[in-house]
Amino acid sequence: MHTDDELRRELLLFKAITDCPQAVIAAKDLDGRYIFVNQAFARLLKRQREAFIGHTDQELFGPEVAREQRKTDLQALKYQTAIMVEETLPVDGRAHHYLSMKFPVHDLSGKLYATGLVATDVSKLKRLTEHLRLQAETDELTGLCNRRKLFGVGRRETARALRYNLPLSLAMFDIDHFKAVNDRFGHAAGDQVLAQFSQLVSSQLRHNDLFGRLGGEEFAVILPHTGLEQAQRWAERVVCLLAASPLSIDSTTALSITVSAGIAQMNCPLSSFEQLLNAADVQLYRAKNAGRNCVRVTAG
Ligand code: GH3
Ligand code: MG
Ligand code: MG
Repeated sequence: MHTDDELRRELLLFKAITDCPQAVIAAKDLDGRYIFVNQAFARLLKRQREAFIGHTDQELFGPEVAREQRKTDLQALKYQTAIMVEETLPVDGRAHHYLSMKFPVHDLSGKLYATGLVATDVSKLKRLTEHLRLQAETDELTGLCNRRKLFGVGRRETARALRYNLPLSLAMFDIDHFKAVNDRFGHAAGDQVLAQFSQLVSSQLRHNDLFGRLGGEEFAVILPHTGLEQAQRWAERVVCLLAASPLSIDSTTALSITVSAGIAQMNCPLSSFEQLLNAADVQLYRAKNAGRNCVRVTAG
């Protein structure tokens, strides 16, 4: 048995812990009604503490949030153990992300009577992670996806095309005589050309196509659900459009540049993205040898 003094000390300790502004703490009864929320919980969700007590997530946040909450609450109750979950709650129309620990709470007789929740707002961390993820897969100069992302998506799409027997083509582009642009107009002008070329091709993509920079002045476009002939027609349109669209490198100078393209379709005996890329590269080499400013495709 606790003495009154011990109880008072424990209560003060409990209060000190639950008053910690960084610890978001709450408890719900077995029906999902809040029986306790601390100040940090109420402040995060921009309501008074009293507004929660006796109410369910359904009443407070609507059916979608309530369904997710209830699922994880019940998990903690069912498995009789603490579980860690990432949760999203809307506050003022904006999604807030929490890392929450949920655990079963028992009364003095050992009977289960509530779900406890201790959560941390990880919205900032989540935004930073998303920013870093985007940065890790984006080419800084052109804003396109980079080689790493291209290979990731490429491997996934080739596996999907093989599994479901779907057409998939890959177009490789290499700007013609690009070294001469740098030599004549400077590296900054070359960068401008790369960025504008990227914009021009981007304007010609369909929703599912993925356009990325392989490196230097070499680019690739993954064309899902696209056969060789369709890919060839598309690439020829891009090659013609570029030849007819001078790119401005500063306010007074515009350059006419051309590009060569090689295309391959995922087909037997190709069985990987790397092989598809090699096959397109062979065709690109043919396009260069054929005089540049043109498209070459693998034999159908
Ligand atoms: P080809 O028609 O045979 O493709 O000739 P090319 O001059 O385009 O090809 P080459 O491989 O000889 O030259 C590519 C040049 O691209 C050389 C390199 O300095 C330049 N380059 C690579 N990355 C960048 C970049 O990020 N910015 C700029 N400005 N130039 C780059
Ligand atoms: Mg090159
Ligand atoms: Mg080149």
